[in-house]
Amino acid sequence: MLLSVVVPCCNESANVGELHRRLAEVCAGLDLDAEFIFVDDGSRDDTLERLKALAGSDPRVRVLSLSRNFGHQAALSAGIDHAAGDAVVVMDADLQHPPELIGAFVTRWRAGYDLVYAFRQGVRPRLGYRLINALISTRIPPESADFRLMDRRVVDAFRRMPERARFIRGMISWLGFRQCGVGYHDRQRFAGRRSYTVRQTARMALNAVLAFSTVPLRAASLLGLCTLAAGLLYGAYILYARLAGRPIEPGWTALMLTVLILGGVQLICVGIIAEYVGRIFEEVKQRPLYVVREWIGPADRRPDDRREGAR
Ligand code: UDP
Ligand code: MG
Repeated sequence: MLLSVVVPCCNESANVGELHRRLAEVCAGLDLDAEFIFVDDGSRDDTLERLKALAGSDPRVRVLSLSRNFGHQAALSAGIDHAAGDAVVVMDADLQHPPELIGAFVTRWRAGYDLVYAFRQGVRPRLGYRLINALISTRIPPESADFRLMDRRVVDAFRRMPERARFIRGMISWLGFRQCGVGYHDRQRFAGRRSYTVRQTARMALNAVLAFSTVPLRAASLLGLCTLAAGLLYGAYILYARLAGRPIEPGWTALMLTVLILGGVQLICVGIIAEYVGRIFEEVKQRPLYVVREWIGPADRRPDDRREGAR
């Protein structure tokens, strides 16, 4: 049995050595062969050189270097595409995900679970999470991170999901399979700084909602309906006022209000539809999810044999 550990790295030069040391320690205690796939996601520091040095000293280390920064979710997908394991673990490079948990993952995997995910204990689900869960139809375990073990069955199914707008936690939940969670306490980053920018986080949240839900589309129609109803009510009132012989104000205010409200509602609805259309455009372009510059590892897993070239 082979266990692949996939780690996306973006400017993690000070972390990869320690992570590799602890991974090697954990895997020595497991009755499994292991490979460590580090994906360099366009780092600007010397992460790639460090990874190459690790690959030179440990034949289990594979390095996948992307041509530029494609973002965490794409880097994860790239690593998963290049993993050969019967089970694949994905985790962060900054040691916020304790490698020691892999032992618990493997125990549960051997007990027959296809998917074992880690969830942070002792923290209240963040508002963003609760909002996403309220909006989308696929349940995502609260406070789970991109730290999990997937059986080969799950990996193969995951690789058949071609969408570009990726929210991997949601995609994995959507797949189903026999799942269970393992709790852990989140750590501080070992070294370096968080590389997710606010913009990336916001984009991911938007992807999560738009890719897993048509609620916003329905909300647009609902908003339109409400406005229409309000307009009709107002019209009925004017009609009544006229028939009852009441003086009607010159109506400038009402007119302006109506125009502004209607304009606003229409723009919102068009904007929501535009978000979906933009995503359809991204999907139909069928661009590869990532571009590989270099692969250090078994030759039969070169990029052109993987999905990147096939798509
Ligand atoms: N990461 C990546 N590409 C990016 C941003 C982040 O590969 O563009 C990696 C990063 O190296 C780390 C993981 O994704 O291994 C999580 O990133 P980070 O620690 O910045 O996010 P946080 O843990 O704060 O959510
Ligand atoms: Mg982190």
